[in-house]
Amino acid sequence: MFMAGNFECIQCGKCCLGIGSIVKMERQLSRFGFVVKNDVVKEMRQALITPEYREIFESDHSIQEQHPAACYFVRRLPTGKYVCTIHPYRLLICSSYHCCSARISRNGEEVGKVKGRVSLESKDENLLTLWREKITPADDPTQEYIASVLKDGGYEVLFYDGE
Ligand code: SF4
Ligand code: SF4
Repeated sequence: MFMAGNFECIQCGKCCLGIGSIVKMERQLSRFGFVVKNDVVKEMRQALITPEYREIFESDHSIQEQHPAACYFVRRLPTGKYVCTIHPYRLLICSSYHCCSARISRNGEEVGKVKGRVSLESKDENLLTLWREKITPADDPTQEYIASVLKDGGYEVLFYDGE
């Protein structure tokens, strides 16, 4: 039986680093109070910087310096994880975003992501070959089929519901 679960964000930050032209800081209302806006659909929300991230929010702008297209509100913690400093108030575009429909791992380590139905993103040559030979040519492969091909190749896959 293959595994399915709810989408889990591993806080790699990728989705927040290039979205600054859509998710914008519209207005500053107070020291930690802002209006955040989706500049495409014009959704707007008032947002407060979460207390635990206030210090890093004010003191560390390195992400925005290194990635000019990054969202105004993203920060990188010393652990290397990226955080949304307005997480409870984030816009729909952010809260509903799933960057992949499944994650593939080997010996507990993530080695690939599936985008959409059958598009693989991976640096694992063995996995890329397996995918190219067995999954891509299959006519509308089911999750069961994909899971069994991967299992035979020594991989595990977790599909996210609703994808
Ligand atoms: S949604 Fe995906 S791309 Fe964005 S931070 Fe989470 S894991 Fe990374
Ligand atoms: S508001 Fe938060 S989740 Fe949305 S792009 Fe910015 S940092 Fe990422």
